[in-house]
Amino acid sequence: MTEEYPQELRGLLERIAPGWPELLEIGVGWYPLLAKLDATLSVIAPNYVVQQVKSKFGALSFYADSSDDPSHFDQAFTDAVRAAEWESTETCEVCGAPARQYVIRMWVSTLCHPHAIEAREDAVDTDLPPSAA
Ligand SMILES: [Zn+2]
Repeated sequence: MTEEYPQELRGLLERIAPGWPELLEIGVGWYPLLAKLDATLSVIAPNYVVQQVKSKFGALSFYADSSDDPSHFDQAFTDAVRAAEWESTETCEVCGAPARQYVIRMWVSTLCHPHAIEAREDAVDTDLPPSAA
């Protein structure tokens, strides 16, 4: 089930709580950011538990608890998650390059300029950069 994900994300996938799909619903460009977040969280909260990792409105949505006790709140844990979610809004979902957000076919995507051009080729929505002529 996890073979398609790179080695540095295996630890994160193993933290996904029972009952949740073993899926990372994000582009490969965010994998390094996610691996870095997992490394940070593993130090802050060694037993942290993940429910869901997905892309929502062009930003990383990382649903996790710092321990299996839901009443336990950890500020450092929450701050690290928020920082990674913020970083994702400036990171290309495809290649990890510096990016901004575009609306393509009613869907917010965070893309670098070349990938926005590529995505624009068969999209008609606005808020896209002019094609590089
Ligand atoms: Zn890109």
